[in-house]
Amino acid sequence: MRELPTEDVLIAGAGPIGLACAISARRRGLGSLVADGGALVNSIARYPIGMTFFTTPERLEIGSHPLACAGQKPTREEALKYYRGVVRTEELRVRTYTRLVGAHREDSVIVAELATARGGGAEQVRCRRLVLATGYFDHPNLLGVPGEDLPHVSHYFDDPHFSSGRDVVVIGGKNSAAEAALELFRAGARVTLVHRRAQLGETVKYWVKPDIENRIKAGEIAARFEAQVGRIEPDHVRITRGRKEEALPADRVYALTGYHPDFDLFRRLGIRLDAKTLRPACDPDTLETNVPGVSMAGSITRGRAISEVFIENGRFDGEKIFRQNRA
Ligand SMILES: Cc1cc2nc3c(=O)[nH]c(=O)nc-3n(C[C@H](O)[C@H](O)[C@H](O)COP(=O)(O)OP(=O)(O)OC[C@H]3O[C@@H](n4cnc5c(N)ncnc54)[C@H](O)[C@@H]3O)c2cc1C
Repeated sequence: MRELPTEDVLIAGAGPIGLACAISARRRGLGSLVADGGALVNSIARYPIGMTFFTTPERLEIGSHPLACAGQKPTREEALKYYRGVVRTEELRVRTYTRLVGAHREDSVIVAELATARGGGAEQVRCRRLVLATGYFDHPNLLGVPGEDLPHVSHYFDDPHFSSGRDVVVIGGKNSAAEAALELFRAGARVTLVHRRAQLGETVKYWVKPDIENRIKAGEIAARFEAQVGRIEPDHVRITRGRKEEALPADRVYALTGYHPDFDLFRRLGIRLDAKTLRPACDPDTLETNVPGVSMAGSITRGRAISEVFIENGRFDGEKIFRQNRA
């Protein structure tokens, strides 16, 4: 393993929250290295092409850098440009495609292991403090059914255009599934929404809910509620409802059943998780975990309840973490 110099702070995750943490550290005179397993703001890069945020621009801003956008709310593309600009202006050191895979303590420093996408073994980075801002978008909640790994199945909604004139099955009943079903329908796909419960989730946005419900009522989007997916085949999704079995035609399948933080990584680092909620042992004021020197930021601080923290309210977590370091 190649050894690198000791960093004041190592931040895992170059999402909006990880970048905000790096800015908070920098403004208190602490140097930081941000390592991301994917691209810069990888989760936003994986949003559907052309997506518009539900949040107004000022609530997505970090480090008080203004986010300019053409409409009332920014698009995915405007946000990508914005966060690239913040990294450039703040001169943040970011290493993309470099994943934190483990860490242990050696005397007064933390030794973090980083793996690059190119392979070739892990690198060790020594740091005084480690901040985890790894989000949840890398880990979809799998259905656990045969065929889920077929090439026409995706856990990320991308671009509805490619499904025009095709049969598409969308699995899920919350925002992502409802919005994907609507976009696919509007792009000319024949859509069937499959949900295990009797109705759509209560958290579906108030402006999306009547839209999807009316499309279902009008028969423009087919829906199967209280349905269990049994298996996915190259051209069908097999479901059961009670004793009834059905094969739904599917050229493309979007399994949009949510995501979860990398709980295995947290356990490997020695972070205690609540048995029921998987909420990490994390001081609410400083966000330091039970492992000295290791802090958490963003949605991962809430265990399974990932939607309690998003960009709007997670972007100040760096201030909590570095508050005690005088500017
Ligand atoms: C379609 C969609 C629309 C959304 N719209 C909004 C909105 O309008 N407003 C809003 O506030 N929120 C919105 N959200 C939620 C928002 O994207 C998240 O709350 C936000 O991205 C969380 O920021 P974060 O920095 O904590 O995590 P992320 O943005 O997920 O960043 C985590 C980063 O960590 C990296 N990473 C993961 N594991 C490792 C590792 N082991 N080592 C190194 N790097 C790692 C990932 O590659 C990623 O870049 C939306 C989410 C989705 C999916």
